[in-house]
Amino acid sequence: QKNARPLTQVKWCRVNTLVTSMEDVVTLLKKEEWEESDLMTCTSYESFLERVKKLKPGSFIKDWHLPNVLALCLPTPMFDHSLVAERKLLFQDKASCLASEILSPKPGSNVIDACAAPGMKTLHLAALMQGKGKIYAVDRDGKRMETMKSIVSSSGAGHMVEFVNDDFIALDPGDRTVKYILVDPSCSGSGLRFREEQMKGETQFVDAVRLRKLCSFQEKLLLHALSFPKVKRVVYSTCSIHETENESVIERVLELSPDFIMEDIWRDTWERRGLEPLTQCIRTDPHSDLCNGFFVASLRRKRKSRACEE
Ligand code: SAM
Repeated sequence: QKNARPLTQVKWCRVNTLVTSMEDVVTLLKKEEWEESDLMTCTSYESFLERVKKLKPGSFIKDWHLPNVLALCLPTPMFDHSLVAERKLLFQDKASCLASEILSPKPGSNVIDACAAPGMKTLHLAALMQGKGKIYAVDRDGKRMETMKSIVSSSGAGHMVEFVNDDFIALDPGDRTVKYILVDPSCSGSGLRFREEQMKGETQFVDAVRLRKLCSFQEKLLLHALSFPKVKRVVYSTCSIHETENESVIERVLELSPDFIMEDIWRDTWERRGLEPLTQCIRTDPHSDLCNGFFVASLRRKRKSRACEE
């Protein structure tokens, strides 16, 4: 089969803490003879990455950065494993877990996931909120919305998610309860590892016209998110490696949004930064970080702006 991946490979998984705990998952894996490579014996991020590269089939390690993420080296596909079937373990690339972690909404808060389907980050947000609060999961694509409903409802988050099958830009920004918004829009997908693998040895074709269209739509979505009167943090993420869809979008949006500034994300713990001068944002590098290529920016309302003083 063309593009088939080897069976023995490392996969990032997130423990769905809405229905289980890291401890219980590790206990079950060990009971099934999985071998844990001890994160505590890694002395640096580099040594952790070396350990991930050397994982043998049937072994796993907890992630260096994210508390409920594991790297598993699958001896066989795990699709019918009880942990997967019961949605205790979710296959989610480490890069895709960063955006929700960075938004980190407080339990009990109101959140919008503006481009939510198929709902992986919605679920992660729900877990970070410890199952308390409300998430409006918006997506304009009806088919993807149905997939998301099924995933979210069967993963312990149904009670806190309201599904909105609409264009995010059409949503009335009058809502004064929403404090956090995640904008994870459609993008070129150039950061997805598999694309890189497919393109190995080839020159990547960059469709400049498509990129221009994408970034103009990405800017509109982000500006709309910033127009919610009480929003205090908006996280923007893409799985693109192109500056046009990442730093350039943030720069232009900030020029038009004097009430917001960039937050300096994980300065001491995350090495790969946004391109100069936007080093407050973070990037992942597929080759260095062993995950998909991703970009995350976090915009915070300035403390002294009028909307916050009310
Ligand atoms: N956040 C999702 C996850 O982690 O599972 C992945 C989102 S995917 C990168 C982008 C999504 O944005 C698509 O499902 C697409 O239908 C949706 N989308 C694109 N334009 C939109 C718009 N104007 N309003 C709402 N959703 C939109």
